[in-house]
Amino acid sequence: MSARGSGGTGGSAGRGPAVRVGIGYDAHRFAEGRRLVLGGVEVPYDRGLLGHSDADVVLHAIMDALLGAAGLGDIGCHFPDTDETFRGASSVLLLAATCSLLEASGFFAAQLDATVLAEAPRLAPHVPAMRARIAEALGIDESCVSIKATTNEGLGWVGRGEGIAAFAVAQVDVIAGARPAVPRAAPARRAKAPVRSRAVRKRRPRPPAAAPRKRPPRKRPPRR
Ligand code: MG
Repeated sequence: MSARGSGGTGGSAGRGPAVRVGIGYDAHRFAEGRRLVLGGVEVPYDRGLLGHSDADVVLHAIMDALLGAAGLGDIGCHFPDTDETFRGASSVLLLAATCSLLEASGFFAAQLDATVLAEAPRLAPHVPAMRARIAEALGIDESCVSIKATTNEGLGWVGRGEGIAAFAVAQVDVIAGARPAVPRAAPARRAKAPVRSRAVRKRRPRPPAAAPRKRPPRKRPPRR
């Protein structure tokens, strides 16, 4: 157990359970002239994945799982592809930033397991380097980071070699003594959809005003 841990898998810390889990998924298509970066490691291949950042589909799935476990939304909320700051960004840095977001909310990444679906290239030789890179970014032991790679048996878009997908499950624990400060609603995505003009925006009809309550007539005291 990490020194940060609240200990045990049961009980509660502050508001809610001390141990929480989240799931993440991501997919990116191949593109010519791009580097292939997976799990923070550059993998030699004739194509890379298309994306706003380095398109590291493995780390993106892991970040979504971590944020989901902590109730902090998803990577689109924190690192939107509409923000030029993140163009070509290293997803390892985004993972480290995700770790900081967790800690600011009273959590730490405890454990994760990811599966990469890729018809090619063969990823098994790169898995140890991925585990080491991810563990370093999160400040946890490599034994707490699991990366598995599989093909899609020639099925679908992954099977046709059009891109790579990844799934991840993550466990986050509450930092000892912390009271998780998680917003009731996930942070809103920074607007990508066009904002409707005032002319188009419809006003929500107001509910009809309630009829005034009639007071019963006052009883006057009898005249003496
Ligand atoms: Mg992505």
